[in-house]
Amino acid sequence: MSEICPVCGLPKDICVCQEIVKEQQNVRVRNETRAYGKTVTIVEGIDPNDIDINALAKELKTICACGGTAKEGTIELQGEHKKHVKEILVAKGYNPEVI
Ligand SMILES: [Zn+2]
Repeated sequence: MSEICPVCGLPKDICVCQEIVKEQQNVRVRNETRAYGKTVTIVEGIDPNDIDINALAKELKTICACGGTAKEGTIELQGEHKKHVKEILVAKGYNPEVI
């Protein structure tokens, strides 16, 4: 027996709430140049009430093999990973707009 989703009442293995939540995130990914010419990749627009942003940041850091931080709906990764991050987010069911 699988658990029942508290939102839609369907068993969790066929529930799509999390997928819908991901699609609804207004995610933007951009590179930003910081002092001393260092580039960081900013992922913003994620609602921390809907998404476990720390878990997502950890996953992105692992895949991109870079350092980074997550706070208040924004993930900051060291280095230029805009294209890569976008691909990862799309694969995970997000719908990112890239500036
Ligand atoms: Zn559900």
